[in-house]
Amino acid sequence: MAQAPPPPDDPRRRVNVIVVGAGPVGLVTAARLAAAGVPVEVLEAADQLGDELRASTFYPPTLDLLDPLGVTGELLERGLICPSWQVRLHPTGERVTFDLSVLAGETGHPYRLQVPQRELCRLLLDRLDQAGVPVRFGHRVTGLRQDPDGVDVEIGGLVEPGEWRRCAVLVGADGARSAVREAAGIGFPGMTYPETTILATTTFPFQQWLTGLSHVNYVWAPEGTLSLLRLPDLWQCSLYPVNGEPVGEAATPEAVQRKLSAIVPDAGGHPVGEIRPYRVHQRLADTFRAGRVVLAGDAAHLNSPSGGMGMNGGIHDAVALTDALVRIAGGGDWELLDRYVRRRRTVVRDEIIQQADRNRDRMWLRDPALRHRELAALRRITADPVAHKRHLLRTSMIEGLRRAETIT
Ligand SMILES: Cc1cc2nc3c(=O)[nH]c(=O)nc-3n(C[C@H](O)[C@H](O)[C@H](O)COP(=O)(O)OP(=O)(O)OC[C@H]3O[C@@H](n4cnc5c(N)ncnc54)[C@H](O)[C@@H]3O)c2cc1C
Repeated sequence: MAQAPPPPDDPRRRVNVIVVGAGPVGLVTAARLAAAGVPVEVLEAADQLGDELRASTFYPPTLDLLDPLGVTGELLERGLICPSWQVRLHPTGERVTFDLSVLAGETGHPYRLQVPQRELCRLLLDRLDQAGVPVRFGHRVTGLRQDPDGVDVEIGGLVEPGEWRRCAVLVGADGARSAVREAAGIGFPGMTYPETTILATTTFPFQQWLTGLSHVNYVWAPEGTLSLLRLPDLWQCSLYPVNGEPVGEAATPEAVQRKLSAIVPDAGGHPVGEIRPYRVHQRLADTFRAGRVVLAGDAAHLNSPSGGMGMNGGIHDAVALTDALVRIAGGGDWELLDRYVRRRRTVVRDEIIQQADRNRDRMWLRDPALRHRELAALRRITADPVAHKRHLLRTSMIEGLRRAETIT
């Protein structure tokens, strides 16, 4: 990233890019363009980086892809290496554990890393700052106009409303409610899952009470499902209203305390930290490109967080998109943007959305017989070294990335 800017007559200067959104996807996009000497600036509506606890899992190929930006090492220092993950039946503790070390040789990072996505954003913002790339906070994009030579971007927010900026390519990495997607007239069909998830954090040491717990655990509980994801200093739990409980009641500190205590009863206090109810959507943009406007990340696709693939998939978009943009800036064909869409949209549709949906369905099984049947099927996979590795290549997003490379 600490590369010198290209000289004034360098052709790369002809393709200046505006990235909308300073989430993980926008910042990876900007950092990779800057590293390749492509002029880029980031416009972000908020007045600072988002601090919310959202994604906590980084998959092996994502860590590989972030390595050249020089951030993987620091992420590893800030996070918790997760050599295995499991599906678990509570309270019996019956479980199947997937061992990510079987991926050694396929990736430089044969494990998942548990670290909040905001840590990646902070590191990238720092890098962009050092490289002199403008990240303009308080700049909300409110509209756009494009012509054959470029895109005019309208900015509102904290700056004087009605200010316009021009670029050769506009990247919409502005999240689920993307104003760029809307202004470009790109449809975002899909659906909203019926349940409300309650994200709750606690410092309760589940690992000392639940035998053989991994750092990432998808759990069948007597009354439904939950997940327990460990971060360096706390557990991030996904909980749900039970027995028709209204969401407003289920998300109170008392109710969350009750739900956490029910996981390990008679174990003293379960301190409750952050509580955040949210709805989950499954949506896929009709296209990721309209002329000189391109979408990536949540602006282009949304999936159930079961399995944690939204941010990872968005970062994979950012890598594929920047590869295309760098080649275009070097004189390559604009058709490369269509190939970006073919590659990423196909993998998101056929792999990410499907897998996330299947993970969610599995964890919503209620019938004990079906749960045992599923557990037995998963155990057969881990018992067979070839099937185990194949399963992890797929669920760790390696296979999807390899498939994308084959799409012409
Ligand atoms: C509870 C939870 C847990 C999750 N866990 C995981 C996980 O473990 N693994 C995983 O891979 N994914 C996970 N996800 C999904 C992940 O958080 C998202 O996929 C990821 O944040 C998408 O990144 P993004 O950069 O595309 O969008 P965002 O992170 O939403 O960033 C978009 C940015 O654009 C800005 N913006 C919006 N509108 C405008 C505008 N008009 N002008 C300028 N700026 C604008 C926003 O302020 C924001 O900063 C989880 C999500 C949730 C809610």
